[in-house]
Amino acid sequence: VLNKIDHIGVAVKSLVETGKFYKLLAGVEVSEPELIADQKLKASFVEIGESKIELLESTEPDSTIAKFIEKRGEGIQHIAFYVDDLEGKLQYLKEKGVRLIDEQPRKGAGGKKIAFIHPKSSYGTLIELCEKID
Ligand code: ZN
Repeated sequence: VLNKIDHIGVAVKSLVETGKFYKLLAGVEVSEPELIADQKLKASFVEIGESKIELLESTEPDSTIAKFIEKRGEGIQHIAFYVDDLEGKLQYLKEKGVRLIDEQPRKGAGGKKIAFIHPKSSYGTLIELCEKID
């Protein structure tokens, strides 16, 4: 059972510029950028009450985020749901024939392990599942 959206991932060209806008909008500081080397991106979070926006800036021209912006422009890139048992959930989805980008969790931003579901299986929306690393 999923019980909440953990965050919404937004692809942006500049964390600094976008951070200024979200500070203006939300009245809170955007978190210090965190480098996620294997995904070739930097991530900052904006915390709005219980909700989070994850701002994603590419660090390499061939990254997923760079390609996304090239094709579709800046904007919402994925929705992340919090799960209590990520490995178990991935196993369950796989058994049900859902295509996964990550069959095993990998390290994401914000002290979480994450895995993506292939958008071909989720009707066009890139879905991330995440769980806190303890
Ligand atoms: Zn995310």
